[in-house]
Amino acid sequence: MTTRKILIYPEQQDELRKPSTSVDAVNRPVRRIIRDLRDTLEAHGNGVGLAAPQINIHQNIVLVCVGTESEGGWQAGPPRALINPQITLERDERKDFDGCLSFPGLYGETIRPHYIQVVGQDENGQAFDEIFEGFNAVVVHHEIDHLKGVLFIDRLQTVEDLYTLQENERGEITKVPFYLKR
Ligand SMILES: [Zn+2]
Repeated sequence: MTTRKILIYPEQQDELRKPSTSVDAVNRPVRRIIRDLRDTLEAHGNGVGLAAPQINIHQNIVLVCVGTESEGGWQAGPPRALINPQITLERDERKDFDGCLSFPGLYGETIRPHYIQVVGQDENGQAFDEIFEGFNAVVVHHEIDHLKGVLFIDRLQTVEDLYTLQENERGEITKVPFYLKR
């Protein structure tokens, strides 16, 4: 098990902002990166995706916990690797919940497409062409953003849409606006 340090904003923003490059072949070093991403994501428990640049590897590799929608809400599935993912179609932009392991304790409401078509390769090097809908589209879109150096704070409509979660005196979880200094 190899867990890597996740880069944190704003301390490591230069690295987080650096665009990634394409993967030529899904070979042993690439599979090793995928394994490290899995171990690192698993060690953090609450994440539903992780992109290689977040562990300071600037290659087009992401992990996404594609889940299922049910009456109880969205339920994360096991992490899946997407290599060289590219969005070929996007629509149905809406505001939805967002958060990022590079911004511990911070959450937000960002605007993202809820229907995207993505092409790329899986971890066996097999090409895929797939539609992601609902919150799965949000998760995949968020991770692909990382490969371009785009962070979730860039997709906030207003600063009020960024918050921390705190327990009030009645024991309820409430949103407390967070004004990020940039
Ligand atoms: Zn993120």
